[in-house]
Amino acid sequence: MIRGTIFAIKRYALHDGPNIRTTVFLKGCPLACSWCHNPEGLAPQPHPLWSGDRCLGCHSCIRACPRQALQFQAGSIRRDPDQCDGCGECARICPARAHEMAGWQSTVEEVMAEVEKDRPFFDQSGGGVTFSGGEPLLQPRFLLALLEAAGEEEIHRVVDTSGYAPREVLARIAPHTDLFLFDLKHLDPAAHRRHTGVDNGGILENLHFLASHRYPLRIRVPLIPGINDDPDHIRRLGELVAALPGVDAIDLLPYHHSATAKYRKLNIPYPQEQLRPDDTRIDALVERLRQFDLSVRIGG
Ligand code: SF4
Ligand code: SF4
Repeated sequence: MIRGTIFAIKRYALHDGPNIRTTVFLKGCPLACSWCHNPEGLAPQPHPLWSGDRCLGCHSCIRACPRQALQFQAGSIRRDPDQCDGCGECARICPARAHEMAGWQSTVEEVMAEVEKDRPFFDQSGGGVTFSGGEPLLQPRFLLALLEAAGEEEIHRVVDTSGYAPREVLARIAPHTDLFLFDLKHLDPAAHRRHTGVDNGGILENLHFLASHRYPLRIRVPLIPGINDDPDHIRRLGELVAALPGVDAIDLLPYHHSATAKYRKLNIPYPQEQLRPDDTRIDALVERLRQFDLSVRIGG
């Protein structure tokens, strides 16, 4: 029985591929984008989140924790991350949902049973299932089994990826994928490393691999103000995408800062907390991309 770790299943998703979709978020990501809006998906293993304002002060969690990782200090519950093994007991016992788990183990059958519930939407709209993350290619065995299971049920399959994965993993996944949503962050290697923590060389090679083999691709660019939305970078993106065989469209995903509460629950700093959306330049950027005969869509 193949198991993996997921952290959310989103129903009725309208921006994760064509038509109405169910999006399964696989946990773990090798990138650390400073604007990440799913920080609860970064770590590969399940772990607790904390909402102190919900706490009733009953201390049930302290008594229940098998690792003595919880203590009451300075008027609040504190968790020692070095002691916590992510067992989830605190989340199970807390009557106020002050502890919640980010992530859980699931079998392919369990995930597909959830996806199957939305078949009427898929049948009516032409949608299907999207595997996102985190980075879904980080769990290749689990992802491949999910894709095969969805294929057997004739459910349309999308993989939403940063493209940061070994080539052999991508080559194994690609024949079982009906569409890749390929998220390009930055073309400049130094800027990519600075803002995501990893090189973009392998990502761009993987992009060319998928395009040259004519695997269906949709390029998506998260527009991050002051980081990758300058006209020259957008021009370079347009040149690159227009030169990819079989690709004639690009999606721009405007930045939003809705992740602030998630960073608080994780008790980690949000590197882009002060960043604000800037929609004033979008029209000009769209025009710039259209000069390359690309169809441009705002949002997914
Ligand atoms: S069990 Fe929940 S409500 Fe009770 S002290 Fe722990 S966090 Fe607070
Ligand atoms: S997840 Fe388990 S080990 Fe970690 S704080 Fe909660 S009960 Fe303790």
